[in-house]
Amino acid sequence: MPGSIRLFTTAALADAATVALDHAQAHQLRVVMRRRVGDPVALWNGRDGEWEGRVDHLDRDRATVVLVRRTRPQVASPDCWLLAAPIRRDLFELVTQKATELGASQLWPVLTRRTNPGRPNEVRLRTIATEAAEQSERLDVPVIRPAMPLADALAGWEPERTLFVAAERVDAPALPPMRGPCALLVGPEGGFDTTELDALARLAFVQVASLGRRILRAETAAIAGLARLLAHPA
Ligand code: SAM
Repeated sequence: MPGSIRLFTTAALADAATVALDHAQAHQLRVVMRRRVGDPVALWNGRDGEWEGRVDHLDRDRATVVLVRRTRPQVASPDCWLLAAPIRRDLFELVTQKATELGASQLWPVLTRRTNPGRPNEVRLRTIATEAAEQSERLDVPVIRPAMPLADALAGWEPERTLFVAAERVDAPALPPMRGPCALLVGPEGGFDTTELDALARLAFVQVASLGRRILRAETAAIAGLARLLAHPA
């Protein structure tokens, strides 16, 4: 539906429920999207599927929507995570947006040996991921984990989850489409340290993978890698 509007809410969604939107959403509905009482709005909350509703009340401060019917059942995103070393703030935010659009279910900022100082702002990343999920018609928002050392991320790794480590200048197979639970690990601007990459390659659940002969920027590698893994999700 052209010009349709789809909003995330934390409220429970059920037949005939009245859902209060937050202040920013009320503004978006009234001022940006120029909606009126009676207009259709789709709502989703990551648990109860997607619902069609009608604007029931709308003023400067407040908006409510009455739900009419469920239009899509809840489905989980593919079980594919992105582990990425934080890079420049705007580029890491771009990676968060694109990882959400492409369908990654979790984003783990991981601190590798050559990761630059500075930590991503989790709250801001969640907002970006929520907006990207609204736009891309996902039914869930990817989990954004707090930044952690790579060693901590690997410490409790489930052996059945393949960790594809994206590495340039190595004789490694091309990254394949996902076939089961998996994660993609992308290094920082300076790449992985050689000993770090060697140690990763020795782990039973790791597959070192290539994204081609070019040396990609970290954000390009994350986006291109997820596009490949999620092209035909299992
Ligand atoms: N500074 C490194 C160099 O010049 O060799 C390049 C690091 S690259 C900018 C950042 C990350 O992107 C790497 O750690 C790797 O995870 C990923 N990457 C870049 N090009 C890749 C490729 N052709 N195949 C797989 N991964 C790649």
